Amino acid sequence: MQKVLVADKINDQGVEVLEGSAEVVFDPTITPEELLETIDQYTGIIVRSRTKVTRDVIEKAKNLKIIARAGVGVDNIDVQAATDNGILVVNAPQSTSITVAEHAMGLILALSRKIAIADASVKDGKWEKSRFMGMELRNKTLGVIGMGRIGSQVVKRAKAFEMDVIVYDPYITEETADELGVRITTLEDLIENADVMTIHVPLTPETKGLISKEQLNQMKDNAILINCARGGIINEEDLYEVLKERPELKVGLDVYENEPLEDSPLVELDNVVLTPHIAASTKEAQRDAAIIVAKEVKEVLNG
Ligand code: NAD
Repeated sequence: MQKVLVADKINDQGVEVLEGSAEVVFDPTITPEELLETIDQYTGIIVRSRTKVTRDVIEKAKNLKIIARAGVGVDNIDVQAATDNGILVVNAPQSTSITVAEHAMGLILALSRKIAIADASVKDGKWEKSRFMGMELRNKTLGVIGMGRIGSQVVKRAKAFEMDVIVYDPYITEETADELGVRITTLEDLIENADVMTIHVPLTPETKGLISKEQLNQMKDNAILINCARGGIINEEDLYEVLKERPELKVGLDVYENEPLEDSPLVELDNVVLTPHIAASTKEAQRDAAIIVAKEVKEVLNG
């Protein structure tokens, strides 16, 4: 029977998918040296973030047909080396879409209802009801920058809150926009009209600094800006400067130019809610990622 190495902790349901099709070796503490020594036994390997599948490993993997990353990125896999050796690399970018969309909604609510600072205030022994006047989301305009897998899940959830949705994404069709009941517009128009803006584009040379001083200054009074995509899409230095001048703006971030976030002046600001790159971290997303990639491994094993 062909052997599959599960080299990092993945959800049990992923391992179950492979039962009957392969001999599964679960070794989530395998060292880089042990991996180099044993990799030639395996037809498939499943990793999360801990295990690095380097060119050295790949060149020793004489029987390997597939490398699977039970998650979104493939930064810990040398994809070029895999391609050079005819080995397939798969991941599961669709597994976290709903989880990230829910986190974006969470940040929006944390800011529109001032939940984070209200929580800090109550825990500080205060009862400052008048300080925490909120904003209702119903009938407000949500601007979605990038309407791919995650952006479209945010749209569905925003519709349930009775928000009007406008979208900036030069790569989607009118048909897709109609299906989701949104209006496509320019970035400038979106920024000028959105009460809440949320970013769901990849980080590319085109999107780096997409939201800088000029765009931040165009935002409506009292607007909310969310970034659960990648650090660097918002220019963080510009953001700090604009937020100091416009304390009525509110910003929720899960991702940063440098991670982990260290010595950032953003932590001093009341109008900012920060999370440590956890938008994709739910048990459900991890389970789905494990199941999706295990199915792909099974297909490859079955030829
Ligand atoms: P996706 O590829 O399905 O969607 C991206 C969308 O952005 C596409 O519709 C594309 O047309 C659009 N786009 C690309 N370039 C653009 C530009 N210059 N201007 C406007 N729109 C543009 O990706 P996805 O699965 O929805 O994920 C979006 C991003 O979210 C990922 O690239 C990733 O960086 C980030 N992400 C973050 C976390 C997290 O933990 N915070 C988790 C998963 C994904």
